[in-house]
Amino acid sequence: MEIPIALTDKVLSSLHDGVYITDKDRVVSYWNAAAERITGFSSQEVVGKSCSDNILIHVNTKGENLCVSGCPLAQSIQDTIPRETEIFLHHKSGHRVPVNVRVSVIQNDEGEVTHAIELFNDISHKSITEMRIKELERVALLDQLTQLANRHYIESELKRRLEDYKNHSIPLGVLFFDIDHFKVVNDTYGHDAGDKILKLTADSLIANTGPFDIFGRWGGEEFVGLIQNVDAHTLSSIGNRLRVLVENSFIEINNKPINITISIGATIVRNNDTSGTIIKRADRLMYESKESGRNRVTSG
Ligand code: GH3
Ligand code: MG
Ligand code: MG
Repeated sequence: MEIPIALTDKVLSSLHDGVYITDKDRVVSYWNAAAERITGFSSQEVVGKSCSDNILIHVNTKGENLCVSGCPLAQSIQDTIPRETEIFLHHKSGHRVPVNVRVSVIQNDEGEVTHAIELFNDISHKSITEMRIKELERVALLDQLTQLANRHYIESELKRRLEDYKNHSIPLGVLFFDIDHFKVVNDTYGHDAGDKILKLTADSLIANTGPFDIFGRWGGEEFVGLIQNVDAHTLSSIGNRLRVLVENSFIEINNKPINITISIGATIVRNNDTSGTIIKRADRLMYESKESGRNRVTSG
């Protein structure tokens, strides 16, 4: 059955691969949408031109110009053998694009080559590079053990929110958490168990975070929470809720549940606060919680 030309055209133009068709003299008669995307050259710019007019100026890894010698398309037209190779084509804006090229020929009933077809796809690692950059950004702002924001991120976020407080009067509360007797966990059950407890605590904080709140690992077994739009009373209630949730969470070691408690300092941002004075105050309030018996929230 003959496939309608319109359908063939539709199929070719919807392909993710670049496709172009030439006659036996390498004059381009078809150039699909993906070819336009990958090379930057439109169909009008290419159709009617010979591939040896050096539009694409294919080069190999040694920089040798393949249009002059070693053009896979020309070779396949000569010997009718399909070829696959990796080359660099010339993008309209000047840079080189690495592509995987597959060439085959179309023959008439007499076996004469009438056309050649080249499929090529972009194998540049641009998207991988982009992903790596994203990953680096993520890693730079994230505490690897707990997957919470790291101190660097919390500090910059605190400064940003402090500006919001000063410019737009958006109230901000800060919670400072420190795990009680954490050294005992490490000493009794080992460092790995300690790490699991840190993760457990972080997960308890994350799971109970409002959409505009953010928790981070300040260092060692200390965490900071930035809670938006709260007064002192609400902040203290949030702190207490988190305290109770952590107290009631546990990991199991040798079928034995291990849990910890946290001491918390809770404070609301004041007019002449800097990020430094806020953290200092929250930390001091946390110490008051320690001194008055641990596993509690002290507000101030
Ligand atoms: P307090 O109730 O007074 O806070 O007592 P504490 O034992 O929690 O306080 P201390 O500051 O003496 O101990 C903190 C411990 O946290 C000591 C340190 O080895 C441990 N630590 C810090 N970072 C990590 C970590 O990433 N993993 C593990 N497992 N332990 C850590
Ligand atoms: Mg500590
Ligand atoms: Mg501690």
